[in-house]
Amino acid sequence: MIRIQQLSKRYPSQGKGAEGMLALDHIDLHIAKGEIYGIIGHSGAGKSTLLRSMNLLESPTSGTVIVDDVELTTLSTAALQKQRSKIGMIFQHFNLLSSATVYDNIAFPLELVGTPKQAIKEKVDQLLALVGLEDHRNKYPAQLSGGQKQRVGIARALANDPKVLLCDEATSALDPQTTNSILDLLLKINKEFGITIALITHEMHVIQRICDRVAVIHGGRIVEEGNVVDVFLKP
Ligand code: ADP
Ligand code: ADP
Repeated sequence: MIRIQQLSKRYPSQGKGAEGMLALDHIDLHIAKGEIYGIIGHSGAGKSTLLRSMNLLESPTSGTVIVDDVELTTLSTAALQKQRSKIGMIFQHFNLLSSATVYDNIAFPLELVGTPKQAIKEKVDQLLALVGLEDHRNKYPAQLSGGQKQRVGIARALANDPKVLLCDEATSALDPQTTNSILDLLLKINKEFGITIALITHEMHVIQRICDRVAVIHGGRIVEEGNVVDVFLKP
């Protein structure tokens, strides 16, 4: 579902003449359909750059990014927009519209693609039920707990029926109990809808709880990769 080949990213340098930061150094990665794939590493390792390359929020310096058999780096803006609708994303700080209700936050991506009003209502109702927020539809983000906000983020990310869900430190701002409930929800979404999940985290616990496979990234390179059991749990 996601294939990354020889992906490098060098950020522009600040000072004149200096070489920019090499954030990703010839990364190869394959994430199969239906997999939950974790990327773990310390701060500055390149996790965020790698994840954001999977929908070209970050454009690579060289290499290819193929999602659902389409090579993203060669697409026109319009074609990229269309391909991105197959890729949902959730964030550490949720990134909700603070002046919009829960309902309207979830409806927003449906409105963007011109979905008819009645279809939007049906879809948002389904999503509210899926994430357990039926009773909070008219609240604003500031009236919600962190876990509830992330449930809104997940519902919004799923609105256009993506094939892939990218999770950018999605539980890092949450307490352990809430983290587990969000991870269980991600597992449920993966099992029920077959959505492929790629997540980045600095927490081992997150990897061990839901991931099938894991890559350890350090200095912009994958230094270890494989089944979670093989990489972490063997003596
Ligand atoms: P992680 O998500 O693992 O913390 P990042 O992908 O955010 O790592 O960063 C990888 C490296 O790239 C770090 O050294 C970081 O300082 C650098 N970096 C990230 N974003 C930028 C940017 N916009 N401009 C310049 N350097 C950046
Ligand atoms: P507009 O997009 O014109 O501002 P609204 O956002 O008020 O209109 O609502 C558009 C439609 O979405 C309404 O007709 C209603 O059916 C549905 N809707 C809006 N908010 C809710 C809600 N909290 N619960 C259920 N349906 C809602």
